[in-house]
Amino acid sequence: MAINTALHFGLLTLSIAGIATCQNNTSGLSKQVFAAIDSRNDQLRTVNREIWENPETAMEEVHAHEVLTSFLEDQGFTVTRSAFNLSTAFKAVYSNGEGRSVSFNAEYDALPGIGHACGHNLIATSSVAAAVGVKEALENQGVTGTVVVLGTPAEESIGGKIKMLDAGAYENLDCSIMAHPGNNAYGAWSRTLASWRANVTWTGKASHAALAPWQGQNALDGFVAAYQMTGLYRQQLMTTDRIHHIIKNTDNLVTNVIPDRVESEWGVRGTNRARQAVVIDQLNSIVEGSASGTNTTVFLTKVQDYWDQNPSFQLAKTYYNYLIEYFDPSKDESTSEFSISTPEQEYEDGGSPSASSDQGNVSWFLPSIQVGFPIGGTAPNHNAGFTKVAGTDFAHDQAITVSKVLALTALEVLQNATYAEAMKKEWEEMIAALQF
Ligand SMILES: [Zn+2]
Ligand SMILES: [Zn+2]
Repeated sequence: MAINTALHFGLLTLSIAGIATCQNNTSGLSKQVFAAIDSRNDQLRTVNREIWENPETAMEEVHAHEVLTSFLEDQGFTVTRSAFNLSTAFKAVYSNGEGRSVSFNAEYDALPGIGHACGHNLIATSSVAAAVGVKEALENQGVTGTVVVLGTPAEESIGGKIKMLDAGAYENLDCSIMAHPGNNAYGAWSRTLASWRANVTWTGKASHAALAPWQGQNALDGFVAAYQMTGLYRQQLMTTDRIHHIIKNTDNLVTNVIPDRVESEWGVRGTNRARQAVVIDQLNSIVEGSASGTNTTVFLTKVQDYWDQNPSFQLAKTYYNYLIEYFDPSKDESTSEFSISTPEQEYEDGGSPSASSDQGNVSWFLPSIQVGFPIGGTAPNHNAGFTKVAGTDFAHDQAITVSKVLALTALEVLQNATYAEAMKKEWEEMIAALQF
């Protein structure tokens, strides 16, 4: 059955072809896929624990890289370590004949000082578990095609996926699938904000602050002027815009010397790249004005450019349908307290973007989803309290449940040509309408 629904999101109108998804159910394939994942649960728990207990920050994820690549190799995947010129990235592949290719992203970087406060240990676990489930279908259940796991480092800083996109990691893939943990909500069509970060450095001229201040050029004044102008600009921002600053390396500042160098980092977020570009333009003017007004020089170097995430609505619907069919959270005591919306409700809400992700850039390159799943607790992501929750058995169980649904979603793409075509067409229309 095909249903066509027109949904409106801002200026964007999507024509969504809904294809009935019942192949896995009727073939009994789901049972085999779930059993394959369940039979490795002890090993998957070890993988999860190893990553969580040994948190490594961006581009330092040596242990996680070793744990994950060894596990996937043991499971019969062909693994390329340190892939795409990134020491802690990897690619793991399993194929059975000709067909489409599905991919799962495994993240595994932690945050400085607070460990796995974004739960990327669970992202890695759910993605490798899903890949094991799809491999079972390819190896023993007559499904054809390819499953790929991409180990994507440094999501929290430089965006490993962006470098991997540039290196061709997402070429010849039909979809990119992953899941991200949060506190108390399930999400299938979850968007993320565009996020841009830059280092901004003012330089001036040092001088004795009492003896000859008139000979100095005050770099700190450059920063403060820009900070204040940004504060004034906030009145003209949209409620969805975000600007954040930090001042860095203050050890060189002393009160009796006019500061000759001040380093800072600026972040800008917006609902999409187009809106974000407007804000960045204004910040460029602010930064230039701050330098000329304080007789200092300013340098701005972009360090991050995460695009807004626009997931495939069709993949989201399939994920949601399978979640409800096999693991309806409202029917399980341990998950009934969590909220869940239909993809249609999420779409009407604009995908409730809040955080940002380098999966955003991937979403502009091929059909993708990054579903959200709850692990409980009240401390939000990027808080030490979340680290604790991300290491629990319950969080692991949630990641495993989600992995099964991710596997079924990927199998729909592998098995159902009509579905895969409709997914691609819908995604192409969405991206064309978003064109930056
Ligand atoms: Zn995070
Ligand atoms: Zn995260």
